[in-house]
Amino acid sequence: MITNKQREALKLGRGHAQSTEARKHISDSLKGRKPTEKQLLVLEKGRKNRDTQWKPQSKKKASISAINSPLKKRNEQHWAWKGDKAGYRSIHRWVVRNLGRPNQCSKCKKIVLGKGIHWANINHKYKRNLKDWIRLCVKCHRAFDKNKRK
Ligand SMILES: [Zn+2]
Repeated sequence: MITNKQREALKLGRGHAQSTEARKHISDSLKGRKPTEKQLLVLEKGRKNRDTQWKPQSKKKASISAINSPLKKRNEQHWAWKGDKAGYRSIHRWVVRNLGRPNQCSKCKKIVLGKGIHWANINHKYKRNLKDWIRLCVKCHRAFDKNKRK
């Protein structure tokens, strides 16, 4: 969006051998009316519009792939729960009965009252072996399970 006056100035500048005076005149007219700033804004706006035009699509793609992989992982991580939920619950009750309800994470030493600390099975075979269980907060439990899967 160039004003007519600017266009004239540019035409003049291009056509004739530019004296320093003519050059000064052009820059002055550009400075004085501050159209360059406006033009820059328009250009900027156009660029932003272009960005937002292709971004949502790529964002969608990215979010889909981001959703897919953790979901798959989560399901894999929950293999122990499949088919034997009752068995897992009963062995968990057995652990709590024998070792008590944990309230301190044995890894990061965080103390959480209530159900914030889990009994985690070290070898993930959920045997009735009291030495096979450690207290872990949710965060450490998640990290622990993740490492175990590798
Ligand atoms: Zn912890």
